[in-house]
Amino acid sequence: MTDKSEFDLSLLYPVISEYLHLGRSGLLPCLHAAQNIYGWLPNQVSIAIAQALNIALADVHGVIEFYGLFYNEPVGKKIFRVCTDLTCAMKGADEIYTHLCSENVNSQGSIAGSELITIEKSPCLGLCEHAPVAMLNGNVVLGLGADPRVATPSIPQSKVYGSLRQLTKNCGAGKPTLIKDYGDYSALRLAAAMSPEAIINEVINAGLVGRGGASFPTGVKWSGARTATGAQKYVICNADESEPGTFKDRILLSDDPHQVIEGMCIAARAIGATYGYIYLRGEYPYILPILKNALDEARDEGYLNNNFDIEIRLGAGAYICGEETALFESIEGKRGFPRVKPPFPTTNGLFGAPTIINNVETFCNIPLIIEGGAAAYRTVGTEKSSGSKLFCVSGDVMKPGVYEVPFGITLRELLSMANEKTETDDLQAILFGGAAGAFATPDHLDIKLTFEDLRAAGLPLGSGVIMVFDKTRDLRDTMKRLGHFFFHESCGKCYPCQLGTQRQKEILDRISDGKSIPGDIQRLQDIGMTMMDTSLCGLGQTASTAVLSAIRLFPHLFTQNKYISQDNRS
Ligand code: SF4
Repeated sequence: MTDKSEFDLSLLYPVISEYLHLGRSGLLPCLHAAQNIYGWLPNQVSIAIAQALNIALADVHGVIEFYGLFYNEPVGKKIFRVCTDLTCAMKGADEIYTHLCSENVNSQGSIAGSELITIEKSPCLGLCEHAPVAMLNGNVVLGLGADPRVATPSIPQSKVYGSLRQLTKNCGAGKPTLIKDYGDYSALRLAAAMSPEAIINEVINAGLVGRGGASFPTGVKWSGARTATGAQKYVICNADESEPGTFKDRILLSDDPHQVIEGMCIAARAIGATYGYIYLRGEYPYILPILKNALDEARDEGYLNNNFDIEIRLGAGAYICGEETALFESIEGKRGFPRVKPPFPTTNGLFGAPTIINNVETFCNIPLIIEGGAAAYRTVGTEKSSGSKLFCVSGDVMKPGVYEVPFGITLRELLSMANEKTETDDLQAILFGGAAGAFATPDHLDIKLTFEDLRAAGLPLGSGVIMVFDKTRDLRDTMKRLGHFFFHESCGKCYPCQLGTQRQKEILDRISDGKSIPGDIQRLQDIGMTMMDTSLCGLGQTASTAVLSAIRLFPHLFTQNKYISQDNRS
């Protein structure tokens, strides 16, 4: 069938036909497929998808507008997305963006006359160890030099360091680990001989807590889903790693995907799940073929089969979809609005069924625990923080990258590895936990990196972000970017966050512009505490934590209307 409209819909139907049996849950895959054909999502295409999936057209438009990587207006054949988030900003991202938007680019961001290129700013692309970075039509562009337009796309080489190589033993080799090198799923074989309860007990006894930021005991979560009633249960890997400064999951997935898949298979046996999803961040499309190949290999070996199989879902540029219930909504083909809890996912998760959702790094710990046993696992780390941890070290360090270390080393020891030196005279601040984290100062250098020590110091471990700022950095600019980030990423479902992130951004803008007014500290504190206490989900509850910590540590930044000396800037 040839469509008489401007857009040849005969190209669309063969591509989306494989998703039609999914119903509404097939909406995001259909939109991705359509955008790959047409470059954007014209109304005729939206109408065709709405009819094919039997969804109201308004719902299709609502989804398209929610996600940052879907376009409902024409864009260039080349789309440059320049990361201007915290780490890339330190490495000159604004100048690169300005350079790209040179005088021959019109106000829509397209080159006048040719409309070949769309250039836009992007939130953190999860490539902080390579900063500054951009994406060109879904491919990573590194080495942005004098003319970023001629930089060539490449696969990022993982930078993996640290004093331990347990979770990262197969990472950093420059290529994905194939199943012939990974070996058979020996931990899964052991798990198959264990009762589900024994598997869960082993995970509980290991003391594993989630590595995505919430730090909830993994075995307890699994136990809840195990005992929940439901003919269908799900295992979901949250690979929507979007916290600015976080890039460890990208490395685990691209370098050692079988470790994640084996962990998911063991989880499925433990809770009685028959289906799983890997929800991959929309900014990581280059990992898709690696994951698809690994899943095919696992199917060929019989590890994935009719009893348990895994499907990949690609996100579309929404930080909020890292929140577990927003992620469910996204898989179900909706806007990523968080749900009110309770009920909790263990009883009412994806499609209303019992579901466990864990982070990539969390799943990678599971084969280790089952293979060696909980007691052996606990020989690494401390009593309350067992095992190893991956830290994403970026910013003003000599060797940015992922560092695997045992829980319990000090911040000073970690930074010594990243700097190959012990002097820290030029250190101004460290951002712990990413945008939703908190600042620390050189006074915190001897703090132990454990859940218990950091909690006592009011510092969130979060997803393991350690972002370093030396004394040349303007922290007011950093906070301004944090304000913009949360304003951009708030889903708008609840007013405290919707309005609070907007007001916070406005105040941080004027402080960064050197135009603070009396009472701004109080305003930021009022807004921050209101968001913290009354927001529906973790985004709003943590949107002010870094700013509030900066007020405590660096109050002069909020009252002195002047920039740091230009002489001190690099
Ligand atoms: Fe949405 Fe923010 Fe409310 Fe979360 S806190 S539901 S992100 S508006």
